[in-house]
Amino acid sequence: MTAGVHRLWSHRSYRAALPLRIILILCNTICYQNSVYEWARDHRVHHKHTDTDADPHNSRRGFFFAHCGWLMCQKHPDVVSEGRKIDTTDLLADPLVAFQYRNLMPMVIVGCFIMPTMVPWYFWSESVWNAYFVCGMLRWAAALNGTWCINSAAHKFGSQPYDVSIEPREHLLTSVLALGEGWHNYHHAFPWDYRASEWGWNVNGTTLVLDMLATIGWAHHRKRVSPEMVAARKARTGPQVHECAAIEYHEY
Ligand SMILES: [Zn+2]
Ligand SMILES: [Zn+2]
Repeated sequence: MTAGVHRLWSHRSYRAALPLRIILILCNTICYQNSVYEWARDHRVHHKHTDTDADPHNSRRGFFFAHCGWLMCQKHPDVVSEGRKIDTTDLLADPLVAFQYRNLMPMVIVGCFIMPTMVPWYFWSESVWNAYFVCGMLRWAAALNGTWCINSAAHKFGSQPYDVSIEPREHLLTSVLALGEGWHNYHHAFPWDYRASEWGWNVNGTTLVLDMLATIGWAHHRKRVSPEMVAARKARTGPQVHECAAIEYHEY
């Protein structure tokens, strides 16, 4: 989810060789969080209209709504209309993404439910129900909740060192649960940076894996933001801006 549909397909923050794209689309199917096409389209709408009615998981509608409640409701009309305006031509131009979109349900039933049940049953004689509930359902639910924390916890709790005017925040626990996706104030300030954080491998397993894959050429053209650009953004929209404004107001 983190290296594939998020950093590669939603944000195009790096390029991936075909073997890596195949592995990522298979892992994505095993996770089953909708198709890559729909996930990436919704995520692009989230970045364009963060925390407004057009954001699919608008965090201003509460923690539960941002976490998983949005999946239980009809989409807000603004989400639908703005979703139609998002350019997704690059997504379906990728034959792997198009194939998964057209064959999602059979792929998910095998990848997310049958395979995790059959492997422990066949190879080390686990009972079918134990394998289904632990390796199938519990693993699926745990990974879903890790991802959902990015939309809920990392939009509610934590610091805003890069931009105090937006809700996304730097949230350590989310980065632990979602392999480096909790550095969310940075990510919304610089969504094209493949590290999704200023701090490289620090609680960021996804960046570590992508850098390892870069050594064998599977991940390349990794986009990153320069330290000067980060410093300039902090000076413009970081917390000290409001402190300065408060001092000026006080003196006035
Ligand atoms: Zn966000
Ligand atoms: Zn993103």
